[in-house]
Amino acid sequence: MKLLSVIVPCYNEEQAIPYFYEEIQKTIAVFEKEFPETAFELIFIDDGSRDGTLSALKTLHEKDERVRYVSFSRNFGKEAGIYAGLQYAKGDHAVIMDVDLQDPPALLPDMYRAVTEEGYDSAATRRVTRKGEPPIRSFFARCFYRLINRLSRTEIVDGARDYRIMSRRMVDAILSMREVNRFTKGIYGWIGFETKWFAYENIERVAGETKWSFWKLLLYSIEGIVAFSTTPLALAALLGIFFTFVAFIMIVFIVIRTLVFGDPTSGWPSMVCIIVFIGGIQLFCMGVIGEYLAKAYMETKNRPIYIVKEEA
Ligand code: UDP
Ligand code: MG
Repeated sequence: MKLLSVIVPCYNEEQAIPYFYEEIQKTIAVFEKEFPETAFELIFIDDGSRDGTLSALKTLHEKDERVRYVSFSRNFGKEAGIYAGLQYAKGDHAVIMDVDLQDPPALLPDMYRAVTEEGYDSAATRRVTRKGEPPIRSFFARCFYRLINRLSRTEIVDGARDYRIMSRRMVDAILSMREVNRFTKGIYGWIGFETKWFAYENIERVAGETKWSFWKLLLYSIEGIVAFSTTPLALAALLGIFFTFVAFIMIVFIVIRTLVFGDPTSGWPSMVCIIVFIGGIQLFCMGVIGEYLAKAYMETKNRPIYIVKEEA
């Protein structure tokens, strides 16, 4: 008998949980026909929800022994939820799925076939369109993927979702990356392994609302860049070299001009502009360095990625 662990991070999702449970039952029924030798375990991660998520999970656990849950002491973020789920998963394969049904469970049999019969270590999904998303958000998302793939040697796939099935050895590889600043999309690229991609159209949430504000996404994207690229640090150095060079040319120019035309005291406004400009560049570069320093500081503390309040 093989075991498939389904990991479902939930944050304030009491409305979506019943829909999800109903839908996953249909998928399990399909599996019973197509893969009779595979059993399921459902691991719900309650990421410090403030609504009835935990009690909804307890109810499910009572009526269905395949349902397990882990409840965090506060909101630690989806990345921490995924990590916890992978740690608790006992399966030969594990799949991460959103509770809002934006990750269609109907794809699961095909994804499972890819990792059991076709020799892949992972089958992942990506959205081909961003339909139903604010255009501004799509625009910035595209820019982000273009930027991070320029800056980082790790490949980060545009439109990739967290919906992904993995073999046990891939799960173990992810668990071995114990960093606190977790950018899962980068982690997948970094560990490698053969991945089969499934594309599908964007699906709207079944209930509740998205937990991502524009601001949260922006901060998350900066984390992603810092976690998987040190190019910005090199860019700061390059900027420094560039401006040193410009300054050198200006010095030569001014010395020659003074020798040829004498020195009428002028040029105060241009001087102020240059000082402000260089000051700005310097502060920007310090900010970039500070960002890396902050991350290094957080990592050296070696704090746990999440704290469990209760589990079953
Ligand atoms: N989620 C979580 N912790 C958080 C935010 C989100 O566990 O701090 C879960 C959420 O319950 C959902 C999944 O992550 O199952 C995806 O979140 P959401 O649907 O809000 O993101 P979107 O699909 O809009 O990118
Ligand atoms: Mg969603």
